[in-house]
Amino acid sequence: MRHDWERDARERIEKVAHLVGMGRKEIETLFSFKRVSHAKLEVNGKVYDAWRILHNDWLGPGKGGIRYHPSVSENEVKMLSFLMTIKNSLMGLPFGGAKGGVQVDVKQLSRQELEKLSRAYVHAFHEVLGQDKDIPAPDMYTDAEIMGWMLDEFEKIEQRHEPGMITGKPLVLQGCKLREKATAKGGFVLLNELIGRKEASVAVHGFGNAGKNVALMLHDSGFRVVGVGDSKGAIYDSNGLDIIAVADTKDKAGTVVSYGKAEKISNDQLLSLDVDILVLAALENTITGENARNVKAKYILELANNPVTLDADNILNEAGVVLVPDILANAGGVVVSYLEWVQNETGNIFDSRFLEDKFKNIMLNTLGHVLETARKYDLSLRNAAYFVSLSRLFEAGRARGKI
Ligand code: NAD
Repeated sequence: MRHDWERDARERIEKVAHLVGMGRKEIETLFSFKRVSHAKLEVNGKVYDAWRILHNDWLGPGKGGIRYHPSVSENEVKMLSFLMTIKNSLMGLPFGGAKGGVQVDVKQLSRQELEKLSRAYVHAFHEVLGQDKDIPAPDMYTDAEIMGWMLDEFEKIEQRHEPGMITGKPLVLQGCKLREKATAKGGFVLLNELIGRKEASVAVHGFGNAGKNVALMLHDSGFRVVGVGDSKGAIYDSNGLDIIAVADTKDKAGTVVSYGKAEKISNDQLLSLDVDILVLAALENTITGENARNVKAKYILELANNPVTLDADNILNEAGVVLVPDILANAGGVVVSYLEWVQNETGNIFDSRFLEDKFKNIMLNTLGHVLETARKYDLSLRNAAYFVSLSRLFEAGRARGKI
């Protein structure tokens, strides 16, 4: 049986396959996986299923985060590793696509158990990891501290230093300064380039790491953030919210709804506000065939993974909405990971200015390629991004004699 992500991915690929010169055989190569590793990790008598999956390595070593979540499954890790191949290729990075995960509810673990689990993960998969093989990073419910434990365990087993085997590490273990806000920063850089008008109005759905930070950056540079929402509800002020005060409320009270100086609205109302820009930074499948016609925004930035379904995509496209797709909009994290890995591989320590410039160049050059492709072939930005990504990936596959 074919799973939903695969059906959607096939449809997206088939829209541009003929332009890229891909036939059925080439398309099929994208749905086989180079390596699927599974292990059962034991911590204090409990057993957890864990995976590391390398989807494709034509462009370089695997790259992709490790997710700790109760819903992690082989199918989910496969889907995420596939997306990493597409994203890394689009961004012009020298990486293939990989992903890892453990089926666990971290809220049930003590700190000590979390450390044991993370070290057990490396113990199980160290043979397939390495700076030139497959390089993990944080994802949902994993962070810099966990990356630090994993690096330590790897180096203990391998009996040598190899900081480039993992990214998103603490700064003192050769991590990278830009990491924490990288995803938001990437989205911000793209919006700034696409929309010169700084007074443009914005609604932000999801007010966590990605959503809150991008709202703060937009507010700081003069955009008018009129609505924000989280899992408890949303708030609105047509004159623009004081995002610094809203972020403070979120940090203290746990929700933006506790902010007293704005009108309370539902998340459905937030998504259909008459704004210039709608930032989706919460969950997958937020805009569907059901609510896509209510969207009034002229631009959508997909900071979340897969927040717009295929049928919604078609509706928004017909309505002339400019949608910056997830594989570009939230690529800031992996771009900073790449810069961290370059520092580790070369022993260089770049200053902040150099890192910022390099980061912006990668984001904006890719946006430029995508815009140019969209114009040339009359494609949506999502289809153009797939075109750019698949062209590079298949050029590498052909150069290797794989296809
Ligand atoms: P987070 O957990 O920090 O924040 C998620 C936010 O969404 C929270 O404010 C939460 O209240 C809100 N939310 C949850 N359910 C909601 C609902 N039903 N309606 C409205 N809001 C809801 O997560 P994050 O790290 O900011 O990630 C958000 C999205 O961005 C995810 O899809 C993630 O995969 C994607 N993403 C994040 C990063 C990153 O570096 N943080 C990188 C790439 C992609």
